[in-house]
Parts: sequence; C-alpha cells; structure tokens
Amino acid sequence: MNYQAKAVITRETNAPVVVETISVEGPRHGEVTIKLGACGVCHSDLSAVNGTLPFPPPVVLGHEGAGTVVEVGGGVTEFAVGDTVLSSFVTMCGICRYCTTGRPNLCDLTAKAMLTLPDGSVRTKDAQGKPLSIFSGCGVMAEYATLHTGNVVKVDARGVKMECCALVSCGVMTGWGAAVNTARVQPGSVCIVFGAGGVGLNTIQGCAMSGAAMVVAVDMNDAKLEIAKTFGATHTFNPTGSDDVVKALKKLTGGGADYAFECIGFGSIIAQAYSCLRKGGTAVMVGVAKMPDTTTVRTNTLVFEEKVLTGSVFGGARPRHDFPRLLGLYKAGRLKLDELITRRYTIDEAPQAFDDLASGRNARGVIVFG
Ligand SMILES: [Zn+2]
Ligand SMILES: [Zn+2]
Repeated sequence: MNYQAKAVITRETNAPVVVETISVEGPRHGEVTIKLGACGVCHSDLSAVNGTLPFPPPVVLGHEGAGTVVEVGGGVTEFAVGDTVLSSFVTMCGICRYCTTGRPNLCDLTAKAMLTLPDGSVRTKDAQGKPLSIFSGCGVMAEYATLHTGNVVKVDARGVKMECCALVSCGVMTGWGAAVNTARVQPGSVCIVFGAGGVGLNTIQGCAMSGAAMVVAVDMNDAKLEIAKTFGATHTFNPTGSDDVVKALKKLTGGGADYAFECIGFGSIIAQAYSCLRKGGTAVMVGVAKMPDTTTVRTNTLVFEEKVLTGSVFGGARPRHDFPRLLGLYKAGRLKLDELITRRYTIDEAPQAFDDLASGRNARGVIVFG
C-alpha cells in the first residue's frame, strides 16, 4: 500500500530544511516498510543540507532511525511485521568481497545507494508526484520509509526507548566502533579524542570501555568537555588560545598518545592528532571532511616511528553483529545512551533541530515520532 508521511527534506543547499507530507510506496521484492519511532539528527544530515556532502536536492534526510516493520515485500524471510529494526546507512549486499570478509561497512553496494535504494529507484514522491532522493539508501527522517533489507537490522529492543535505539544506528556505532573495532584500543593505553560532539563522546566511551588509562577530550566548547567527563574522559583540553596544541597535549600525556581520534572533519586536525602520537601510535580519522580537503604528515615518521594513519567509516561496523551488541551493553548498564540526548523534537520542529545542531547546542538531538 501507499503511506502518507511527514518527512524532513532538504530542498535547497544551505537553506533551512522543510517538513512536507510525502507518499511512500510499500515494499517491493526484498524490501520492508518501516513506521519510524525515532530518528537522530546527525552531522551527516547537516552535511547534506550545507553541501559538505554534495547531494543534489531534494533529498529526504535521515539515516539514524529506529522503528517497527509494518509491511514486508516478496522474498523477505528474515523480517516480519512487528519487528523492531534499525536503519543502516551502509547497504549490506552479503556477497561482495567486503561483506564476505567481515567488512560490510565497505560494501560495494553502498556507493550505489547514496541517494536511492540499491536498485537505483526510490519509493518516495512529493505532493506533486515528483520522486524524492533518500539519504544513503535510508531517508528515515520521516514517519514511514521503505528500505532494502540490506539496510535494515533487526534488534531485540525490549525495555529500550526508540530514541536510544536510533542513536545506536549511526553516532554511537561510528564513535564507539572507531575505538573498539578500528583502533582496537588496548587496556592501559593513552587516548586523545579531538571533538566531543555526538560521535566524539562515543569514541571517548569506547576508549574508556576498552580500558584506556587516560582519555583526553579536546574541544573548543567547555560545556561539551564537561559532558565528555561523564563519558569517560579522564582529562580535558580546550585548545582556544593555545599557540602549540601538539606540544601542550604531548606534555599532558607524558610524551604522546597511543591512539588519537579526529571526530570533527578537518585534515589540519588529523595532522595534529597524528603529531600527538608517540612512536608506534595510531591516528584514526573519523570525521567527514569536505571533498577537496587534504592532510599532510612528515613522511619519515611513518618509517622511523612506525606511526599509523588510518580512517574509520561507520566505526568498522558489522551492523548485524554490532547493533545488538551495543544494545546488550546498554541493557547491562555499561553503555550510555540516554545521556547523549540533549533534546527531543517533534518532526515539525526539525528546522529547529538542525539549527541547534549547526550551532553546537546539542550532543544529540532526536526526532521522536508520535
Ligand atoms: Zn550519521
Ligand atoms: Zn557487500
């Protein structure tokens, strides 16, 4: 059937998002339709609005969603009506070399589903009947969404609020996974995390959970640094006014970090993170930079200091394994989710939610559907 749904759309680059009622076609073969319970407002959504991600509008935003399956298409056996599911902004085809070697976050199909379902079509139309692109195969900042099963993960969410479930599907996975899956932070190590926003806080909590002895949160916003302490930062550093950030952080860490994470999106900052490493250390780029951005390292430090510079997309997620794992940690009281949510919004308040994100007022804002 067709579903009428309010949806958050970017109609024009660098203009405020709009809320429109759209039509969402029910599932075709290999697809499911989801009634959304909650959707996080993620920095990547903002990047699609402000042009950092060059997505031609109009685009239905949202990729950090949780909801309930209301209809399944032909050939779908792994999902049933009533299942609680999370969206995955990476598509998992299950058969490419990355999916079959345990790295579905690099699935070849994802690149083909940046603005559509993996087959290149969409189920979304505006009131004039014109097709609407969907963010990263998802477009879940809407009351209903039809997704390919390769972008959907079933979870046991009993006792977990929908807004907490939603956060797991992007921000928490990306940050926590960068520390746990990508860097594999070792007990007793020294970590520096640049950026204490929604993703950075989760990198901090991933480092702390991995047994890091020292976790330094770096941010220009003192309020965020205070929150970082509750997520496991042992030290904080505000670089505002510092004429040599690297020197200051090397001094604070007693010679440098074993792991340094960039959770903002600048080549200049990952270069600082890399410079803060001690010998044998690993720097991980987590933030998404503008397309032309580059970075520079001193070549011989790769050789003589055996430093590693790498990246982490989606926290090295294996969503079907990691989403349930994260919810399990939350249920056991070991992973913080509620504390990430600064503010809840109705879908009609979405423009305010994007304003608040752009101005840095939120750790995480979440749209909760009625
Ligand atoms: Zn995201
Ligand atoms: Zn694949």
